[in-house]
Parts: sequence; structure tokens; C-alpha cells
Amino acid sequence: SILKDKVALVTGAGSGIGKHVALKYAAEGAKVIVSDIVEKGGKETVDEIIAAGGQAFFVMADTGKAEDNEYLVQQAIAKYGALHIACNNAGIGGPAAPTGEYAIDAWEKVISINLSGVFYGMRYQIPAILKSGGGNIVNMASILGKVGFANSVAYVASKHGVIGLTETAAIEYASKGIRINAVGPGFIKTPLVEKSMDEASRNALVALHPIGRLGESAEVAELVLWLSSDKASFVTGSYYNVDGGYLAR
Ligand code: NAD
Repeated sequence: SILKDKVALVTGAGSGIGKHVALKYAAEGAKVIVSDIVEKGGKETVDEIIAAGGQAFFVMADTGKAEDNEYLVQQAIAKYGALHIACNNAGIGGPAAPTGEYAIDAWEKVISINLSGVFYGMRYQIPAILKSGGGNIVNMASILGKVGFANSVAYVASKHGVIGLTETAAIEYASKGIRINAVGPGFIKTPLVEKSMDEASRNALVALHPIGRLGESAEVAELVLWLSSDKASFVTGSYYNVDGGYLAR
């Protein structure tokens, strides 16, 4: 168990990638704070962890609100007495439209959840991790944190920003016992990608991945788990893509 005795928090853990990160953390011995804005999915993740013999509890929090991030960290300390690991995973796609027509309120919503949410998360997680004797943070970026993608200006900008937040905080806390890294999945088979997608657009997406298929949430969680463990003890301020070759083209 590579995360034995660790306390880990995962946002957006009621579905997709975040759910699989929470399951893997728990399977490796961590006590997991499962957080989501949707209670049903979050509670299902907790139930699965407990059924498998792990420890977890659910906290409802909207990562786009600073005070919810503060509350989430407080709950982790109240329940398990420490915080060592945080995976800032919650994110939304936003509507598809070219930049010259992108709805202002949609831009603000995507930026508040995907970008400000990661800052708010780290803002409260870092002091708690320092008090707990050190640990690490993994922020969920995307391949679209490195390259552009038509009709997704808010998402692309937010994910580029997540990499900048990650690098800056990593420099600040590298000598203080906190490693901070970002992960960039290619297109993964989750509700975020699969909902409202027809066969043709799905095939077009697959064609962007040299490996010839979309990814699985568990394949992303495997990388997050490694970064969150002491096996990655010299890794900080880095961005790792897990993308079936998308960025190599
Ligand atoms: P998903 O929609 O399956 O799961 C996201 C979860 O986050 C949901 O349970 C949702 O309720 C929750 N959530 C949404 N807004 C929230 C908020 N304000 N506060 C708290 N929780 C909130 O999506 P996913 O595909 O698993 O995406 C997870 C992360 O991975 C996102 O940051 C996404 O941008 C990133 N990502 C996904 C893909 C992909 O292809 N699926 C690719 C690259 C990056």
C-alpha cells in the first residue's frame, strides 16, 4: 500500500477520472475525502470504497467558490486529522462556440470552476499540508493545457492556466515538503466527453489519438497515483500527458 496512513482529498470525485483517482487512492491505503458538487455520484464513490474495505467520506463542495474549498479542507482535518494529498480534478467543458461568439457568462463559469477552483483549492490545501508535515498536489489539466482546440476558448485557457498555477506553486513549496504537479489527459471515455456526442464526432476524436482509441479514467488515475506517491519523490512542477500520443503528432 503506497499511500498507507495518508489522507487524500479528490474534487469532482463523483464521476469519471476523479472517481477512479479516489478508488485508487483508497485501494492503496489512503483515507479519502470524496468531494463533488453532486451528492449522488460522490456518495456512490464512497460506497464503492467502503465496500472494497477502504475508508472514505463525502463532502459536498463547489470548487468554483473559495469558501467551499476552505470548508472542504476543514472537513478533512476534522474527520481524519490531517491532509497530505490533494487532487484538484473537478472541471467542466463549457459550450462549444468560436471565440468571437463565446458567451461571456459561459467564459466566467468555466474559468471560475476550472482555473479559479484550482487556485482556491491550493490556497487552502497548502497550509493544511504544511501543518501535516508535507505531501503533494496533483492538478487536472489536459492536453488542451498545451495546445489550442477550436470552439473551446474558455476550457483551453483555463487548462493552460492550471499548468501555470502548478509551476508557480511548485517553485514556492519545493523546499518546504510539498510537490505539485499537473496531469494532461487526452480525450477520456467519461460522461464529460461522451454526453451529447454522435458517432461521427466520436470517430473524429479517436483519429486525433495515434493509439487509435480514447483513454480510460483508470489509465489517468494510474499516473495521478504515481505522482501522489513517494515513488515520484523528485518530481515537482511537472506536467505529464497521458494521451495516447495526441501531443506527439
Ligand atoms: P466528469 O464530468 O465525468 O466528472 C467531473 C465531476 O466533477 C462530476 O462528478 C461533476 O459533478 C464534478 N463537478 C463539476 N463541477 C464541479 C464543481 N464546481 N465543484 C465540484 N465538483 C464539480 O468529467 P471527467 O472527464 O472525469 O473530468 C475530470 C477532469 O479531467 C476535468 O478537470 C476535466 O477537464 C479533465 N479532463 C478530462 C478529459 C476527458 O476527456 N474526459 C480530458 C482532459 C482533462
